[in-house]
Amino acid sequence: MNAVIPIQADIGCSDAPVLRERGQREVFCGLTGIIWMHRKIQDAFFLVVGSRTCAHLIQSAAGVMIFAEPRFATAIIDERDLAGIADANEELDRVVRRLLERRPDIKMLFLVGSCPSEVIKLDLSRAASRLSQEFVNKVRILNYSGSGIETTFTQGEDACLASLVPQLPAFEKNAPTSLMIVGCLPDVVEDQFARHLKAMGIDNVQFFPPRSSKTMPAVGENTRYLLAQPFLTDTARALELRGARYVPAPFPFGVEGTTEWLRAAANLFGVTAELFDKVTQPSRDRANRALDRHREKLHGKSIFFFPDSQLELPLARFLARELGMKLTEVGTPYLHREHMKYELAMLPAGTSLSEGQDVEKQLDRCRAIQPDIVVCGLGLANPLEAEGINTKWAIELVFSPVHGYEQSADLAELFARTFVRKGKLGLDKHASLKATDLASEAACN
Ligand code: SF4
Repeated sequence: MNAVIPIQADIGCSDAPVLRERGQREVFCGLTGIIWMHRKIQDAFFLVVGSRTCAHLIQSAAGVMIFAEPRFATAIIDERDLAGIADANEELDRVVRRLLERRPDIKMLFLVGSCPSEVIKLDLSRAASRLSQEFVNKVRILNYSGSGIETTFTQGEDACLASLVPQLPAFEKNAPTSLMIVGCLPDVVEDQFARHLKAMGIDNVQFFPPRSSKTMPAVGENTRYLLAQPFLTDTARALELRGARYVPAPFPFGVEGTTEWLRAAANLFGVTAELFDKVTQPSRDRANRALDRHREKLHGKSIFFFPDSQLELPLARFLARELGMKLTEVGTPYLHREHMKYELAMLPAGTSLSEGQDVEKQLDRCRAIQPDIVVCGLGLANPLEAEGINTKWAIELVFSPVHGYEQSADLAELFARTFVRKGKLGLDKHASLKATDLASEAACN
């Protein structure tokens, strides 16, 4: 018997109205993605072509690596470049030559555009093809934009992967169906997914991006791809152009999301319902037990999402359906209806949805609601905390391993510990704050 079971989804928010706003936004830029991508593709180097501000952003987000050879850097565009006195292309070629001379371990180099490089119209795609010819057969040189102009911070990964798709090798004609899992996943999560799929007899699985630039997955008309991250619109489009086809599924957050995501793969390969349950049930039971302790703390608490990471809808679905949280407004920077089809259907009816941002208006709505917790970017978190509203940094949810069964409880804990922290501070609210309280607060955030 085949495991073709319709994904359990009620009508939910499929047809719900969406408030569309196009005002001032408070988001990080796409350079941020370098922090997790440089850990994933272990022989790649990310050279940001930007200003000192860009360099500071990357350094402070990643921390300074003293003992390791760093795998990202910034080629600073200075006043001479901005004024057109120096030839920025020549300067860039010089920096790249010096870098590749010093670091023969680099096999793939990304030239990453920024707001300043876009403002001075430095053509990084031409630079990449010029330098590729110079370093042919030694280093693959690509480019993408991490600029903060009209983007959100997760779009850096999307732009990077989309730039890689045309470079992927092609499958031979009539190759058997192959499953591609798309989106940066921590190695530990990737291994868990690979184990589950293998136990179901699905061997033909490739992860994109891979851990090494030498093991890029092949793509072709036999490729079916499952998105592991909800912000990969351009990458999906580039894969379709290479003949790959999308496998619709919810995203693998929480027990339910992970089960339905794996089920979509199982259905594709004709795995029986019995085998699917045999492989996944022990992990589902274990993950559900681990979630119990967080349900107590989170059940009935209200949550408001500002648009930031594009993870908002899947996270809201997980928190509402598996932990009993009450959704107030769920904001997302962009709403891709095809990729979000199941997520929308699984959200509780009556949830307020918004796309884009007009930050002052959204802050007013948030203040009027007074939710128990707000998920937002760093720029809004401190002011909201100062007003007594609990916050969770959206960026932390992208930096932490949160996909899959084993990480479901960790994901819930990221929200639950905000209340634990407040509870601790609340007990002492008549006493002056001690250094230990402040330290524990810093550790929690
Ligand atoms: S790319 Fe733009 S938004 Fe990002 S750090 Fe540089 S100047 Fe700022």
